[in-house]
Amino acid sequence: MINLTKQRNYTTNTEYMALRKHLSTALLLLALLPGCSDSDTTSSSPSKGDPITRTHNEHLPIPPPMKTAPPPYPWEKDMVANLPKITKEFFRCKGSPLNPERIQEQNGKILRIADCGGSEKHSLPLNNQREFIYPILIDLMNYIQRQTGKKVVITSGHRCPEHNAYVDSSTPNTYSKHLIAAETSFYVQGLEYEPQHIVNILLDYYRDNPKYQNQYAFQLFHRYEKSDTNVSIQPWFNKEIFIKLFQKEEGRNFDNRHPFPYISIQVRYDTDLNERVTYSWDRAQKNYLRR
Ligand SMILES: [Zn+2]
Repeated sequence: MINLTKQRNYTTNTEYMALRKHLSTALLLLALLPGCSDSDTTSSSPSKGDPITRTHNEHLPIPPPMKTAPPPYPWEKDMVANLPKITKEFFRCKGSPLNPERIQEQNGKILRIADCGGSEKHSLPLNNQREFIYPILIDLMNYIQRQTGKKVVITSGHRCPEHNAYVDSSTPNTYSKHLIAAETSFYVQGLEYEPQHIVNILLDYYRDNPKYQNQYAFQLFHRYEKSDTNVSIQPWFNKEIFIKLFQKEEGRNFDNRHPFPYISIQVRYDTDLNERVTYSWDRAQKNYLRR
């Protein structure tokens, strides 16, 4: 019995000491909390709070739902008339190392003409160290897509010298503006047999664009009447571009093996530099990077 009493007293004593220690710590913490004001204590003290009441016809004013378009996906920002926006990427050389050698007889000799290594092996022409296509060509292609809602198929954009020779090794083609990224050939999917309609859209571009307002050298097109072209329909030209319409049996080359009529546009004038655009051997042969 004696031992049990002593044990109980000892336990009680230890608990008492521990309780004192906890109380001291709690008082110290309370002293270190200056933010606890009387008002806070008062406001939090009632446990009941105020009753929430509303009348039978009281309701929250919930605005009617508004229909909003979902935010565009990143790729949708680059769409024109639900079609991918045409960029300089669309004008890359169409050459391929998979194309077989082309065998041609010239002056009694057999020539074997190989295609280039493809657009992965060389760049577009450079302008201020950056890849470049004349912007008017890009603008016109997107304008056609916007006006028609149809896809423009660029069959020939930039051609490196190897691919240009592979496409057409005739002498006149040696000076092609495809070599300096100043020419493109294309047709419009779904409107393949309405090339005249597409030509009219190109003429409209200059009539409707505020950039050319009152600039008759751009707004007015003339017909090219000389017979030194490879088309039977007289081309159209203004100060900036030259348009040729190839009928289905004309202008066939490796880039245009399709059965459709097609249109080619050459850039004649650079509106940024205010100078004529002409073929030059240096620009054609040296002004791009090879990998
Ligand atoms: Zn090439």
